[in-house]
Amino acid sequence: MIDDRTAQRVLQNSGSYAGAIDGVFGDASHRAMRALLADIGHEIERWIDPRCRIALDQHIMAEAGIAVGAIDGQVGPQTQMALERWQDRLRGKSPPSAEIAHQPARFPRQRAVRRFYGEPGAHQVSLDLPFPMRLAWDTDTIIRRFSIHEKAHDSAARALARIRDHYGDTQLRALGLDLFGGCLNIRKMRGGRSLSMHSWGIAIDFDPAHNALRWGRDRARMAGPDHAVFLDIWESEGWISLGRERNYDWMHIQAARL
Ligand SMILES: [Zn+2]
Repeated sequence: MIDDRTAQRVLQNSGSYAGAIDGVFGDASHRAMRALLADIGHEIERWIDPRCRIALDQHIMAEAGIAVGAIDGQVGPQTQMALERWQDRLRGKSPPSAEIAHQPARFPRQRAVRRFYGEPGAHQVSLDLPFPMRLAWDTDTIIRRFSIHEKAHDSAARALARIRDHYGDTQLRALGLDLFGGCLNIRKMRGGRSLSMHSWGIAIDFDPAHNALRWGRDRARMAGPDHAVFLDIWESEGWISLGRERNYDWMHIQAARL
């Protein structure tokens, strides 16, 4: 949460608060907060004060150039991420933007993906691959880019570049790590009723023929020692391997926690 003095200063600057900057968020501060939120177009009639206060924090961070997503007074993963970034700035740890780009992304839990990523199939961008991949079920077809969610794009691009640097093209091919089994695909989870993480373009399958859905680590190629660095790199970017987490569907990695 953003400290009360800062919030009061923002309210004062907006012209809605004439009281003291004393760090006591009292009635005048609350009135000013509601006035500011209404002024900038939020329908806050039904919002209780704590929700307005979160929305005010979101507004302040957005004004400071921190990505907060919707200003809705709800603390979702993106708001939490923004608050951490805000705290980093206060501690003087604000890294230059190039460094921010190299921090591991933090992704939501599966049950919160819709709030974090939006509607299935939305917000897609094209990821240009750092090495050519082969389509797993038609290996003569070369893939040079695929569709992925914009919030998963940067970490995936970094992971794939690191994977290429570590393995090199020959080894990638020998290990089947260049066999693309799909990313965006709006469908139900296999054997389940909820939507697959593929529906948001936040899951990628590699080499499905050698990592069948129901195979465990005794059979799945991805569970072998040569593939450990591959999965380590994804995990360092905040992605998870269903194989490592659940010992099935070893082909599948995703930008959402279980
Ligand atoms: Zn998958």
